[in-house]
Amino acid sequence: MTESTPATTTDSGAPVESDEHSLTVGAGGPILLQDSYLIEQMAQFNRERIPERQPHAKGSGAFGHFEVTNDVSAFTKAAVFQPGTRTELVTRFSTVAGERGSPDTWRDPRGFAVKFYTSEGNYDMVGNNTPVFFVKDPMKFQHFIRSQKRRADNNLRDHDMQWDFWTLSPESAHQVTWLMGDRGIPRSWRHMNGYTSHTYMWINAQGERFWVKYHFKTDQGVEHFTQHEADQMAAADTDYHTRDLFEHIRDGEFPSWTLYVQVMPYDDAPSYRFNPFDLTKVWPHADYPLVEVGRMTLDRNPTDNHAEIEQAAFQPNNLVPGIGPSPDRMLLARLFSYADAHRYRIGANYQQLPVNAPVAKVHTYSKDGAMAYRKTTDPVYAPNSKGGPAADTDRHAPPSWHADGDITRAAYVDHAEDDDWGQAGTMVREVLDDAARDRLVDNVVGHLLNDVSEPVLTRAFTYWSNIDKTIGERIAKGVRAKASEKDPKAAQQSNPARTSMQHKA
Ligand code: NDP
Repeated sequence: MTESTPATTTDSGAPVESDEHSLTVGAGGPILLQDSYLIEQMAQFNRERIPERQPHAKGSGAFGHFEVTNDVSAFTKAAVFQPGTRTELVTRFSTVAGERGSPDTWRDPRGFAVKFYTSEGNYDMVGNNTPVFFVKDPMKFQHFIRSQKRRADNNLRDHDMQWDFWTLSPESAHQVTWLMGDRGIPRSWRHMNGYTSHTYMWINAQGERFWVKYHFKTDQGVEHFTQHEADQMAAADTDYHTRDLFEHIRDGEFPSWTLYVQVMPYDDAPSYRFNPFDLTKVWPHADYPLVEVGRMTLDRNPTDNHAEIEQAAFQPNNLVPGIGPSPDRMLLARLFSYADAHRYRIGANYQQLPVNAPVAKVHTYSKDGAMAYRKTTDPVYAPNSKGGPAADTDRHAPPSWHADGDITRAAYVDHAEDDDWGQAGTMVREVLDDAARDRLVDNVVGHLLNDVSEPVLTRAFTYWSNIDKTIGERIAKGVRAKASEKDPKAAQQSNPARTSMQHKA
């Protein structure tokens, strides 16, 4: 030990006698129960892991700030988006299906979560690197995630169950097309966009309401890995995306994203050609162009990844005045499920941890619970005549939209151009170029050749033909050609002409 090295202590601050030797009766004798430091070390070690997120377990993040660069006060009164405002924030990026040790470069959507520490309370944007999602009703979400994770019997991920779920859920077509294309494996987290995916409500100072979708566009440019590059990287550096972000910030190369919103006047929603609350659809840019809001820059790494990133709790119900939810069912369910996950994963008082605590003053009636840190003061109830906090109901009305009808379990109401395949087909035909289409076909063929069996395989060919006839034919042909190289019998089985199964939603 040198003069500058602090002496080891127990967790209660008392000096430790040895970092190396346990307390024994003689050098060859038994270890003593009275070695409290050894026991503290073992017990604490056993409790180091908290339950990993289910899904989005593998990820990391960084701190930074958001600066407003354009005046959007006509659309929202939220303090965080007023001209000239700068707000500190923390972000987390992640894969969806993989566990904590899984490769960063698996093909998967990426989580893109931002917690703004605003003057009016924390505002969390818990999005993905894609503007759409696989399902539109939360009843299917758990099943979707299970289909992407591991089988019960052999604990392996299984492409057959993935395609089984997707082909029986045609609303997934848009997101699956995205996933199987170049955007399915970003080159790094710095090289991907982030989207709310959901529609949110913005409310201005006059009480006027708008529907909005957020687009965080990377200032580094969108870049991807091919499947081959990603496979190689998964073997060479499992944590490549984590390392890339950390090292660029450490070296002063701060990544940034420009935030844009699409703004839909409140009254447009009922007659818009797509249901604007359907999470499987985008709003074409030509209908609602991007409006710049500001820039997010990441400039500080965590120093304790567990305390500051693993325990960071992002939740879409962290909304602030001027920003509200929308009738998107997936969003409405997430308003509950994220906070619920944090209570289970981190504990009832997770919002008191430094990374989750707001900079805004907290005057809550929540009290006690495990690991309560913030002190409660009397009175502990409302209403009271003892000077306790009182809600400012005149100033803060709930974000609201008109809803009525009988209680029911029903599908979304389709608007004029809503169908499961249309927007995916537009992407294949009008957004991708020839080389990107070739990679899409290769990626899908490779994926389907990985243990996808009948009747799922035939349904997958039909699924792709519904998105785009030519792409569907190329995928079927590609699978049959490659299967016959490997096993002529399997190729015969994968011929759609052999089965009568047709799947068209
Ligand atoms: P636009 O031509 O205005 O926009 C197409 C957008 O597609 C681009 O701006 C880009 O969005 C995104 N894009 C480019 N290359 C790829 C790729 N390889 N994989 C996935 N997305 C890519 O057309 P529309 O707005 O009319 O949309 C047409 C189709 O584009 C949609 O059906 C949808 O599939 C896709 N798309 C639309 C978005 C939207 O919000 N309107 C957003 C992203 C995709 P970006 O700059 O955000 O990356």
